Amino acid sequence: MAKGNIGVTTDNIFPVIKKFLYSDHEIFLREIVSNAVDATQKLKTLASVGEFKGELGDLKVSVSIDKNTGTLTISDHGIGMTADDIEKYINQIAFSGAEEFVEKYKNDANAIIGHFGLGFYSSFMVSKQVEIVTLSYKDGAKAMRWSCDGSPEFTLDETEKTTRGTDIILHIDDENKDFLEESRIEGLLKKYCKFLPIEIAFGKKKEWKDGKEVETEEDNIINDTNPAWIRKPADLKDEDYDKFYRDLYPMGENPLFYIHLNVDYPFNLTGILYFPKVKNNIELQRNKIQLYCNQVFVTDSVEGIVPEFLTLLHGVIDSPDIPLNVSRSYLQSDSNVKKISSHITKKVADRLQEIFKADRSQYEEKWDNLSLFVVYGMLTEEKFYEKAEKFMLFKNTDKKYFTLEEYKTLITTEQTDKDGNLIVLYTNNTIDQHSYIETAKAKGYDVIILDGQLDNHLINTLEQKNEKMRFVRVDADVVERLIVKEDLSSTNLTDTQRDALTTVFRSQVPKMDKTEFMVTFENLGSNALPIIITQQEFMRRMKDMSAMGGGMMSFYGEMPDSYNLVVNTANPIIERILKTTESACNANVAPILAEKKKIDDRITDINTENKDKKYDEISQESKDEKSALEKNSGELRSKADAIYSEFAKENKEIRQVIDLALLNNNMLRGEALSNFVKRSIDLMK
Ligand code: ADP
Repeated sequence: MAKGNIGVTTDNIFPVIKKFLYSDHEIFLREIVSNAVDATQKLKTLASVGEFKGELGDLKVSVSIDKNTGTLTISDHGIGMTADDIEKYINQIAFSGAEEFVEKYKNDANAIIGHFGLGFYSSFMVSKQVEIVTLSYKDGAKAMRWSCDGSPEFTLDETEKTTRGTDIILHIDDENKDFLEESRIEGLLKKYCKFLPIEIAFGKKKEWKDGKEVETEEDNIINDTNPAWIRKPADLKDEDYDKFYRDLYPMGENPLFYIHLNVDYPFNLTGILYFPKVKNNIELQRNKIQLYCNQVFVTDSVEGIVPEFLTLLHGVIDSPDIPLNVSRSYLQSDSNVKKISSHITKKVADRLQEIFKADRSQYEEKWDNLSLFVVYGMLTEEKFYEKAEKFMLFKNTDKKYFTLEEYKTLITTEQTDKDGNLIVLYTNNTIDQHSYIETAKAKGYDVIILDGQLDNHLINTLEQKNEKMRFVRVDADVVERLIVKEDLSSTNLTDTQRDALTTVFRSQVPKMDKTEFMVTFENLGSNALPIIITQQEFMRRMKDMSAMGGGMMSFYGEMPDSYNLVVNTANPIIERILKTTESACNANVAPILAEKKKIDDRITDINTENKDKKYDEISQESKDEKSALEKNSGELRSKADAIYSEFAKENKEIRQVIDLALLNNNMLRGEALSNFVKRSIDLMK
């Protein structure tokens, strides 16, 4: 019996390996099975160049469990190893690599866990003893048995083995007994080995017979050796892509489109990516892409490898050029990864452009499910934005779709304001903003729907990139002011009438939490509604953005919602309310206002007298008089306001027009709504 020490100077590296790799130790199976596949492929290569002339025979790799001996065996019919090979590849290289690695990363558990290609020695994570029984393909080779119990000592002897290839026999240790469970191993094989290029057999296929599950003669092959992504696109039909998608995600909804990647210069990359229907919450949808390295599954978390928005895609990327044995932060700065990343971005954009051109109606049909993905890309990748500008679509309230350029042309005549800005009107809720949409359309304007999760950001970006283009939500102002083409005709109200109506309406707006109303007046014509509630575009947008989260913006989040209560002075109901107010209040208010006027005139006089004086030069007397007068004037104002409010409180019509405006804006709730209903019924009696 030959004994020796494997090429390790650290006394015993295995405890270290076991400790660090605890959470990820299942990958040992991937490592051992891929070694078996490599050995088999090497043999095929040798045969193809004439260096191996024997029978290839059955080349399946088989995985089997023996519960009695507590072993898991991986057998192949590949090139096998001679005693020299074992000495060189197992004793020296494999272990010296392991030692170097553990030395380097012993303080960085993550680096060890994230390491790909732990190789043969990863089997010690789950085994108390590992045996290699192997017969090389070389003429006259002797079968060898290598055994090691996890100490740096091994034994190497000649043994009996008649078939070419290698058996790796793992004596599973007590803490890892689950790797002797059929379902566990089958699960792992399906996860890591599903697309390996050599058939992997795990037991026999089973079938139901007489109400019992029985084994058949047929091997249970767990992998597809020729997955769609490594085949030529020309050989594949749409059905093949659909079927492959099903293989990957048996439960998934059908994707919208696919893209087949196939690059061999300056890096190697194959894969198929699918565009899924992107639902309204992008956070929940990430990380479906599977990353492979020569058909061996590596990971399904691809952040850092592809741009963020692409993590929404589904499918497979396979590249031997992505360095996998490094940390994620290193990955992001790796030049190959950068190239791959921008290549995929470009391909994805080109593919969408191609579908858009080739079959616009199909593209439009799918747009609603695609838009979030495209917008996400436009917002996060400049290169993608440049391309996507041509295939990003606006959908209007009539469900017609336009590219940015088409839309500009469509609205340019009707929707250019007096300063030459192109005003895009949009809604983010076609139901709540229904009446505003109708009013805008009646005026000959077009309204687009921007109700996606990222559309606020999209609007900002589009405004930055397109000079003289402004987005205004359809309820941001009365229709006459949404797109200001010329100055509006004035309201013809006297100051007294203005003050009267301001108080009358402001006093009757129902109290709402964190909400403010400003009463303003417009002459909107006799056919327009008596009162319209609008919310200024800028403030609303700031608040929307703050609701989505983000440092600075939280300042806006704290501010109350501020609305305009726009009173249409040309509406007959408002005209009537003004008349009733005047006839009910003028007698009482007039003397107060007359007195107030005198006081205000006196204040004006004092101001004129002191106009050229510095504050210090004004006499104390004059200052005292002024502040007493101001106080007096304020009190008189309150007195007049009290009379108007008292009147307004009793006038059902005033509350009714306010409530109707609130209702139209979906803002009438709770008690205010019940009061409205009661009052409406009263008014009908
Ligand atoms: P790697 O596969 O990354 O080279 P490993 O530690 O997994 O590293 O394996 C070391 C070497 O041992 C392999 O390169 C190969 O030469 C040899 N080897 C491992 N498993 C087998 C096998 N089943 N058949 C033949 N050779 C093998």
